[in-house]
Amino acid sequence: MFQIIRSARRMAATAERLRLRRKRIGFVPTMGALHEGHCSLIRAARAKNDVVIASLFVNPLQFGPHEDFRRYPRPFRKDAQMARAAGADVLFAPSAKELYPEGFQTSVEVEKLGRRWEGASRPGHFRGVATVVALLFEITRPTCAYFGQKDYQQALVIQRLIADLHLPIKMAILPTVREPDGLAMSSRNAYLTADQRRQATVLFEVLRWAQAEIRSGQRQAAPLIEGMRRRLSEAPAARIDYVAIVEPRHLEPVWRLRGRVALLLAVWIGATRLIDNLLVDVR
Ligand code: AMP
Repeated sequence: MFQIIRSARRMAATAERLRLRRKRIGFVPTMGALHEGHCSLIRAARAKNDVVIASLFVNPLQFGPHEDFRRYPRPFRKDAQMARAAGADVLFAPSAKELYPEGFQTSVEVEKLGRRWEGASRPGHFRGVATVVALLFEITRPTCAYFGQKDYQQALVIQRLIADLHLPIKMAILPTVREPDGLAMSSRNAYLTADQRRQATVLFEVLRWAQAEIRSGQRQAAPLIEGMRRRLSEAPAARIDYVAIVEPRHLEPVWRLRGRVALLLAVWIGATRLIDNLLVDVR
């Protein structure tokens, strides 16, 4: 039976009971405004676990002071329906007061990995993410937690957190779900005007362009980055935050490509900041 739980204490007690009965708990943390990307994670959790808990929490700690926390979409009823239809048993939807009661002052920080790229552009972002995920893990006691490759650096930060805190949690990273024209699904796509939405396809187009260049033998990062930047700037609404080619574990820039590389992008389309990435095998 599908249930919505708002109390952390009740969620923790439910999870504890399930663990005592040796149930496998699959956990999918989200900020809501669910789309097919989120649903693919819930379905993957459904396929491998006895019980699926999805969480819905727009985490104030991971937004900067001038970011979109207030206007982040919160279509709660639709989210509950979608989570249920995708196979969630429990939707854990606490309030901020519930998760961070008066006097809350603990944080979790994944230091080096959390300071690069997204962390550099959004100071404190990954501290907010790591803190809330550590809390959610503690409350929901998952056997396996599911994350999207769409937020590749975030997935690595959580992987590090699980390893560093010796948490007995497995982690699955699932492929980015895209719109038919290639744009990575994101709750923030809803902010785009029709014209910006058309231009937003440029992110995936430049990733595919770089992938094709690598496949046809390009082994130098510099000309690739330059080509990606040039192509991005051809979209009038686009303003580049960063374009990076990095090794895929620590996200350090590479100059000569070999093995496997990650292509990372953060681009403003008008007032909306979008990210995307692609992992490419260099053969
Ligand atoms: P969010 O609600 O944006 O915090 O995302 C919750 C989870 O869904 C994270 O693990 C994201 O990486 C994942 N996610 C978001 N968009 C996509 C997508 N297009 N494809 C796959 N996973 C996604």
